[in-house]
Amino acid sequence: MSESIEFAIVGAGMAGLTAAAMLRQNSRRVVLLDKGRGVGGRLATRRAGESRFDHGAQFFTVRDARFRAAVDQWRAAGWVTEWFTETGHTRYRGTGGMNGLAKELAKPFDVRTQTAVTRIEAADGGWLLVTGAGDEIHAGNLLMTAPVPQSLALLAGCLAALAPDVFEDLRGIDYDPCFALLATVEGPGLVPAPGYVRPETGPIAFLADNTRKGVSTGPAALTIHASPGFTRDYFDAPHEEIARLLLEAAAPWLGGAVTAWQVHRWKFSQPITPVSAAFLYSATPAPIAFAGDAFGGPRVEGAFLSGLSAAEAFLALH
Ligand SMILES: Cc1cc2nc3c(=O)[nH]c(=O)nc-3n(C[C@H](O)[C@H](O)[C@H](O)COP(=O)(O)OP(=O)(O)OC[C@H]3O[C@@H](n4cnc5c(N)ncnc54)[C@H](O)[C@@H]3O)c2cc1C
Repeated sequence: MSESIEFAIVGAGMAGLTAAAMLRQNSRRVVLLDKGRGVGGRLATRRAGESRFDHGAQFFTVRDARFRAAVDQWRAAGWVTEWFTETGHTRYRGTGGMNGLAKELAKPFDVRTQTAVTRIEAADGGWLLVTGAGDEIHAGNLLMTAPVPQSLALLAGCLAALAPDVFEDLRGIDYDPCFALLATVEGPGLVPAPGYVRPETGPIAFLADNTRKGVSTGPAALTIHASPGFTRDYFDAPHEEIARLLLEAAAPWLGGAVTAWQVHRWKFSQPITPVSAAFLYSATPAPIAFAGDAFGGPRVEGAFLSGLSAAEAFLALH
């Protein structure tokens, strides 16, 4: 199949969905392509039996007025709710899990999920995107919101034609990896209200009970995020070993036997070398911008602001 569109957005996470909303408000025709089974990217929620786990972002905070305006609308719609407040910042969660927010945001759009872009080339003053299924999409304008190393790999054949300062900035962006161990235990568990602990030492960075959090029902459903150091050290270790070590460290909060577990490995969890620009834009070899949490700040809010700023720049330029 071959088709031509005005705007292609690679990635239907927070950055891509926010950019799509701004472009659509201004009557631009946008298609989003995402390799995932569903939308949301790192706004991820997984079901296992009766239980539901947020296994990517656990919550988000709000600092910027533009994000505040959006979050107020999402709260009014019932898509997000407050989880807890710490050091003066309210932590919000998706009402039925973080992914539910992405699903709501994606509803108005032409989103092609399970569509991995495997190669991108400059062609005829625009872009040619080739998908895993062999489909070809010609786009006048391109917004890349995948983690930056993945975007660079897709564009490998035309990196030399990008504006040199843009390429230099992109090349320097790196991310921490993160294991998410999802475990159900017998009984209510011992994670105190409102449903999280942040151990100060050891391999666990953050441990949440999705049931106490309000995302799951039934017995305790734990998301255990490993520290970046532990994840790097055990990145290729067997899942059994990773689970054993993390469950050992989580013992004070289990309160019952572990009934099921699975390990998810985030290779690109959070950027450690974000750039200060809200997005990067190159007019050559054809209009392209890079957005996501590596630009606006390493969190959900940063991804939102980055997507918004990139879309505004496209609208101003074209
Ligand atoms: C473990 C973990 C914990 C976190 N905790 C928090 C937190 O507590 N608070 C907070 O604010 N933030 C947190 N974050 C960060 C937050 O999730 C991200 O900042 C935000 O969701 C990034 O959105 P994005 O749109 O930039 O990228 P993503 O959500 O990664 O979206 C990029 C999309 O691109 C798609 N994609 C990639 N390659 C291709 C391809 N070749 N073809 C098609 N599609 C492709 C992916 O499938 C993905 O959906 C956490 C992240 C992780 C992983």
